[in-house]
Parts: sequence; C-alpha cells; structure tokens
Amino acid sequence: MISIAHKIELKPNNKQKTYLCKAFGCSRLAYNWGLAEWKRMYESGEKPSGREIRKHFNAIKKEQFPFTSEVTKCACDQSFLDLDNAFKRFFKKTSAYPQFKKKKGGKGSFYLQTDCIALSETNNGSKSFKNLIHNIDGKHQYIRLPNMKRGGWVKMCEHIRFNYTKINNAVISQSDGKFYISFSLEITEDEYYRTHHHADSENKNRKVGVDVGIKSAFILSDGIAIDNPKPLKNNLRKIKRLSRQLSKRFHPKTKEERLKGVGKSNNYIKLSVQLAKANGRVANIRRDFLHKVTTILTTHYGEIAIEDLNVKGMTKNHRLAQSIADSSFGEMRRQIEYKAKTNGVKVLKVDQYYPSSKTCSVCGEKKENLTLHDRIYHCKKCGATLDRDYNASLNLLGQLTNHKIGTDYPESTPADLTAPRSRFTLNRIATSKVETGKQHKSSVSHVNAMIL
Ligand SMILES: [Zn+2]
Repeated sequence: MISIAHKIELKPNNKQKTYLCKAFGCSRLAYNWGLAEWKRMYESGEKPSGREIRKHFNAIKKEQFPFTSEVTKCACDQSFLDLDNAFKRFFKKTSAYPQFKKKKGGKGSFYLQTDCIALSETNNGSKSFKNLIHNIDGKHQYIRLPNMKRGGWVKMCEHIRFNYTKINNAVISQSDGKFYISFSLEITEDEYYRTHHHADSENKNRKVGVDVGIKSAFILSDGIAIDNPKPLKNNLRKIKRLSRQLSKRFHPKTKEERLKGVGKSNNYIKLSVQLAKANGRVANIRRDFLHKVTTILTTHYGEIAIEDLNVKGMTKNHRLAQSIADSSFGEMRRQIEYKAKTNGVKVLKVDQYYPSSKTCSVCGEKKENLTLHDRIYHCKKCGATLDRDYNASLNLLGQLTNHKIGTDYPESTPADLTAPRSRFTLNRIATSKVETGKQHKSSVSHVNAMIL
C-alpha cells in the first residue's frame, strides 16, 4: 500500500463558502486558544499536551464558542494535534516556536478525518457511497460538508483519479480565492505504477548534474538547457502592471492612515482580486513546470547532483532573485528529493560553497573574478570556452563521478538524449542545446551530417 496526496479544486456555492470560511475560522480559533493554553499550563508548571488541551477546550466550547458546533468537529480537534506536532518540531529544533495564526485574507484550512468523508455522484447525496472504489459514471463528484443541514454537497472539479482502497483523511483549504480539497489516498502498488512514471532499470547508470541557470531555468550536464515556460513571462508582466495600477487606487498607504479608518475604494478591491488571481496563476504554472521537470529528471536518471543552495541568501542578490528558477529552487529541490526516494534515485547535494560556477570544468582553474554578467566561461589557462551554466553543471556532475579534472567527460551521444528530449517535448517544456562548448561542436557536426 502506498499513500498519496491528491488535490482537487472545489466549486462551493455561496452558502457553502460561508460554511468553509466558518470552519477555517474555528480551526484557527482552536489552534490559537490551544497555543495560549499551552503557554499558561507551561508557566504554571503543568505538562501541556495536545490531548490534554483538547479536553479543556471541549469542556468550555459549548458555552464560550457555541458557533463551533455549526461546522465539523474535526476542524477544531485536529488543531490540537497540529499544535502537538508544532511543539514536537520545535523541541527537535527543526522549526521555530509555534506562532499564533493570523486571519489573513483568503487563507485557511481545516481537516476531515476518514469517517467524516462522504462522496456522491449527485448533489443531494443519493447513491452516495463511502470510501469505496469509485466508478466514473456521473459527470461530477461531490463531497459532503459534515453538519451542514441542507445543501452540504460541494461540487468537485473532477473525479478522484485513482482506484483507491481507502481515504485516510482530507484537508480543505483556500488560497487565491479558490477552494481545494487534498485527499490522502491509499492505493495499491499496481495502481501506483499504473498512474506514475517510474524509472527503467537502464536509467540507473545515467548520471546528471543540474545547474540552476539565469537565462534558462535549468541546465543539464548532458547539454540540454530547459527554458522557463513562456506563459510565466507574460503573466509576470501582467502582475507588474496590475500592482503598479493597484498602488494608484485609493487605499490606506500607511499604518496611521489605516488606524484612522481610511478605507479601500471599490476599484482597489476589484483590482486586488485580479492581482491575487494572476499571482495564483503564476504559482500554478511554476508548480506545474517544476513537477514535470523533476518527474522527468527522477525517472530518467539514476543519480542527480544538485547544488545545495542557500535559498534565503540567494534572494538577497537582486539579480538572482529575479530569475524565476531561483525563486522556486527550494521547491524544486524538495520535489526532486521526495520523487527520488520513491524511484530509488540517488541525489547528491553539492556543498553550497563548492565553486561550481567559478571552476573550469576542463582544467580545474578557479576564476575568482567571475561576475553574473559573464555568460560565457572563458578559461585563461587552458583556453576552454563554454556556456557559464553548462560549465557549472559539468562540475556538479564531476562531484558525482569523482571526475579527475583534466580528463574528458564521457561524451553523451545524441542518441542518449532522444528519450529525455522527447519526454520534455511531450510535456511542452521547451529545451535547447547549450550554445557554446566543446560538446556543442560535436553535436553540430553530427546534425550537419544528418542533414547532408
Ligand atoms: Zn581551464
């Protein structure tokens, strides 16, 4: 059995939206109440725990927070377990001290445990079934919001796409004005391999170094440059324009003005919705792109070397921060790591202080005065001229293979690249050959030979 997450957009009507927002609120309230109680218990010398605090909350909720009974009890209950986990992470020193949750515009989530989840093919629950292997007969699938007296069946944008044996739980969340449900499904191994790409055994021997480029999104050490998706650029331009316009609409510009009660104009509100949507679209395009790239990488190569970049430090560098791949580099690394685990791929995180860009991949000379403007790496010692990012990716590959500087890398023949290239093309990911470098020369002559 393998458990996977499956996220689907919800299409709630207005009443259902109200319910969802109430549930988000209750979940947040319980968390914050629990955190305050935790602090109080700790200071008075008691030993706080999520379970204990949940008991305290349940004892007073009917009187103090009667509205919590309007939504599912899971919304509150889970918050105390979340709090427990947050403190566990804090004690393990993997995250900071838990903070109070703020009511931020359009954000929130709540949890549904398995026995609260009911699915139906109709919007009134007839022919409903619970945790069974579904059949795609009806046009839509609906999920029931517990405790909603009438009209509690929310339309989902699509059917659950897997033949699952069990729904473990689900989380309903909101971001950018949209609502989502994320199921945790148990599926059989066969179903997993039916629905997911997995590596051929011959891929085990393929090794690749992946460098985050500035012009291209990623550069692979076998000479493929992966371009950023085009819609991203257009949408980023749109975001820039919208935020410029938004700043000119009437709204409180300082904290003092906000405290004085300066309101937001209708035009400001309308435009900010548009901006949120555009931002959401960019995030979606980026996520989609990263998922496709990381899936191809982890199924086509057996060993991957990536830079273990300090993402926080990098965003301080303005030029780099603007590069799209960089700002989602942390996410890319996360995806590669978890997909590598399921595919049995080895990932080497090269130390962030290893000078992959500055070192000449041919002779090992270190160029200290390399700037971001230098698109081409030209080595003064041995005369090698390569694309800057391509040079870096070769150095990363070198870390993987214990490559001796000064010897040639095993050149990949063009035939080797057909498989990943066709997968990239199939997924509409633009790739190009790296423009300079010795490998390029050989492949150009090869291409010419084919044309002749
Ligand atoms: Zn050199």
